[in-house]
Amino acid sequence: MSEAPSSGTPYPYDAPASQALFDRAAAVTPGGVNSPVRAFRAVGGTPRFMVSGSGPYLTDADGREYVDLVCSWGPMILGHSHPEVIAAVQEAVARGTSFGTPGEGEVALAEEMVDRIGPLEQVRLVSSGTEATMSAIRLARGFTRRTKVIKFAGCYHGHVDSLLAAAGSGVATFALPDTPGVTGAQAGDTIVLPYNDLESVHEAFHRYPGEIACVITEASPGNMGVVPPRPGFNQGLKDACGKNGALYISDEVMTGFRTSRAGWYGVDGVEPDLMTFGKVMGGGFPAAAFGGRADVMAHLAPAGPVYQAGTLSGNPVATAAGLAQLRLLDQAAYDTIDQVSATIQGLVTEALTKEGVAHRLQNASNMFSVFFTDREVRAYEDAKRQESFRFTAFFHSMLAQGVYLPPSSFESWFVSTAHDERALQRIADALPAAARAAAEATAK
Ligand code: PLP
Repeated sequence: MSEAPSSGTPYPYDAPASQALFDRAAAVTPGGVNSPVRAFRAVGGTPRFMVSGSGPYLTDADGREYVDLVCSWGPMILGHSHPEVIAAVQEAVARGTSFGTPGEGEVALAEEMVDRIGPLEQVRLVSSGTEATMSAIRLARGFTRRTKVIKFAGCYHGHVDSLLAAAGSGVATFALPDTPGVTGAQAGDTIVLPYNDLESVHEAFHRYPGEIACVITEASPGNMGVVPPRPGFNQGLKDACGKNGALYISDEVMTGFRTSRAGWYGVDGVEPDLMTFGKVMGGGFPAAAFGGRADVMAHLAPAGPVYQAGTLSGNPVATAAGLAQLRLLDQAAYDTIDQVSATIQGLVTEALTKEGVAHRLQNASNMFSVFFTDREVRAYEDAKRQESFRFTAFFHSMLAQGVYLPPSSFESWFVSTAHDERALQRIADALPAAARAAAEATAK
């Protein structure tokens, strides 16, 4: 591993093979990547092109090994190339890769999910978290015959047109589209509210009586960094929805089967009308789902009138991977993940405190992230006030020392059962220099 960077040199070593691939990619793919945050734009430098993963490690095209604290943005909760997941995949592949018919694997995966989560009576499998939230919103609108949707600033639910909207400050402001390509009409029925602010939710229901189909929220947000719901917030949303004839949709794409055996529902016990899932349930393959109350799900085609479909939905290889992964996730596995997470959080706090770096380490069960601010982060506006330039220096120092963090200060860190003593030691060894780099960093 090369030297840790000194301050002021945020990109200390080159990665020639990754850079060559990035150049090739840029010629045929916009920005050189297939999902924007992978491009390292928030931190600068060359995105690492990974060639293999094993346990807690990733190896890049230059042959460098990293302890992985991204875990494919959540799915790889057992680490990379877990032998039992790989065996299940190989066995499934050998039987054929897609039939376009129902199959037993998708039934078994749905049963496993329903078995873990009380309010999840029925599920429909899809291929991405985006599809799951898009379909859940459509179903909520079809079921309630209402149009408006409440979402919270800083919560990400995939790139669904109507959810790619964040308003400026203010209560019950109708959203402006966040991106060209989303029309005012598509975003116009979305009401964006500040997170953790129940009062604004009550005001919105008061202002639009009989018009709000649903409230969608990340069960515990991880897409503005980790900002857990304040005590009573999710229950307050559920109650407000119940009182006003709207559905409460808990987006568990990130938290599902990660924050506990039953995801965030297993932590706070608030019963959603609909839920969405992805990431862990796919075992590293494109599998996702939405589900919930049977009487609501009964409105979905072919049982009911709300249309939804997918050529690769319930794909036999993806469902085999997801099922194998879920079956390995017993309480002992969650205990391990919680312990790994607590250890890393402790190490990060210790290193940053020692260097006098103002920071907040926030967690939701085993998900956590570091904000470079001394104030509690309760909402997106707070998250935006952090000193992100310190994260940039911290990130590059860790990278240079063989620790792969999410390349943005607005993302959760993810750990796995495979993060063993050796991996933790590498993190511990890297942190002092990274904390120093954060302390010495200056805003551009
Ligand atoms: N919902 C949440 C909470 C997410 O974190 C994500 C992705 O990170 C999505 C939805 C979208 O999932 P996908 O990237 O599979 O479309």
